[in-house]
Amino acid sequence: MSAAPHPSPGRETIATMNDARSDLVIVGGGIIGLAHAFEAVRRGLRVQVIERDRRPVGASVRNFGHACITAQSGPLADLAMRSRVGWLRAAVEAGFWAREAGCLVVGRSEAEMAVLEAFRGDRGPEDVQVLSAEQVRDQLRGASTEPDARIIGGAFLPLDLRVDPRTAAPMLADWLAAHPLVDLHWGTNAHSIDSGLVHTNRGTVRGQHVLVCVGHDLDRLHPADAERHQVRRCTLQMALVDQPDGYQLDAAVLTGTSMLRYEAMARTAPAAELRAELTAADPELMDMDPNVMFTRRPDGTMIIGDSHHYDPTADPFLDERISERLLAEVAAITGADRWRVRQRWQGVYAHSPLTDLLVTTPAPGVTTVTVTSGIGMTLSFGIAARTLDRL
Ligand SMILES: Cc1cc2nc3c(=O)[nH]c(=O)nc-3n(C[C@H](O)[C@H](O)[C@H](O)COP(=O)(O)OP(=O)(O)OC[C@H]3O[C@@H](n4cnc5c(N)ncnc54)[C@H](O)[C@@H]3O)c2cc1C
Repeated sequence: MSAAPHPSPGRETIATMNDARSDLVIVGGGIIGLAHAFEAVRRGLRVQVIERDRRPVGASVRNFGHACITAQSGPLADLAMRSRVGWLRAAVEAGFWAREAGCLVVGRSEAEMAVLEAFRGDRGPEDVQVLSAEQVRDQLRGASTEPDARIIGGAFLPLDLRVDPRTAAPMLADWLAAHPLVDLHWGTNAHSIDSGLVHTNRGTVRGQHVLVCVGHDLDRLHPADAERHQVRRCTLQMALVDQPDGYQLDAAVLTGTSMLRYEAMARTAPAAELRAELTAADPELMDMDPNVMFTRRPDGTMIIGDSHHYDPTADPFLDERISERLLAEVAAITGADRWRVRQRWQGVYAHSPLTDLLVTTPAPGVTTVTVTSGIGMTLSFGIAARTLDRL
């Protein structure tokens, strides 16, 4: 795509939106829309971003901030590696917190260690570094907390990244809003989209190409595409707690249940045995469809999750039994005997049983981009670069 002549650099007001024309109109100001805007301005394109809320409050600020690079497989592994470069570049430009902190995967059974060994066999010993029990426990230890005695080993994945989900997307949005090639329209709801036209509650915006990056709300704008791919809402229960005193690990921490979710681990031969083992040992936990994991934010709080529930319409109610169970699981791993819970919330993301990444073309010049699995933070900048290559 070549850049159109730029009419007048600088920010326009909502009042002039009816006349606005740009190379690209992006609907949705979560990380997928913002990463596309970031990649577009790097290529000299003039961009308008339409976001119905006044700041990012969707999946992109409710997640763990774990760019789970190493555990992707197939074409998604290449997208993840490309995304890694984009995340680090955006963090430098926009000034948000991002660390090449890696990821620690905790092994507490022979079946879990067998998955990690197979994962190392596939990815190589540099990308998947198998650790002893003591090496894992050393990383998890706090000043007065002793990690789980059941830990028998684990793996460190040095390519994984950490960002702070509460600040990364908002700071990227601020950076874009100040960019001369970008107009970011907060509080503006797109209600229908045609080729080159986005009709909003504040007027019509024109652009050579329209990208629809609205996450789980794809069904509101393009119901046929959503239905064809069985897109539904996945809800997750999350909590924010104070980290154990002296805990210092910036790496994301994954567990056995995570090994069943991330493709590069889940498709290893020993994963079937692990699933059977976990289901037999703890059917109540497995009923929650869990990914027991946690990350530490730069302010010393810790994000703990998660469970998964799938429904076209998200049920609004949090189940306290699930929250308590997830907190107990992470308490056991870290050795924290009690948590000070600061917040609980529900995350929602788009899910399709048919694909992890959904790209559709509902009309000429209109492309929808939806990550339909829980890895949109991981893939965001890689997907954006690929979309822009194809325009
Ligand atoms: C609890 C939780 C934990 C997760 N953990 C991770 C993780 O650690 N690593 C990882 O890789 N992924 C993770 N994910 C997945 C990841 O967060 C998502 O895949 C990603 O944030 C999706 O980004 P998005 O921009 O598509 O969606 P969103 O962030 O939801 O943004 C979509 C935006 O579109 C806007 N919008 C919708 N409709 C309209 C409209 N009609 N007009 C204008 N604006 C509109 C919305 O207001 C919203 O701001 C997690 C998700 C959750 C919920």
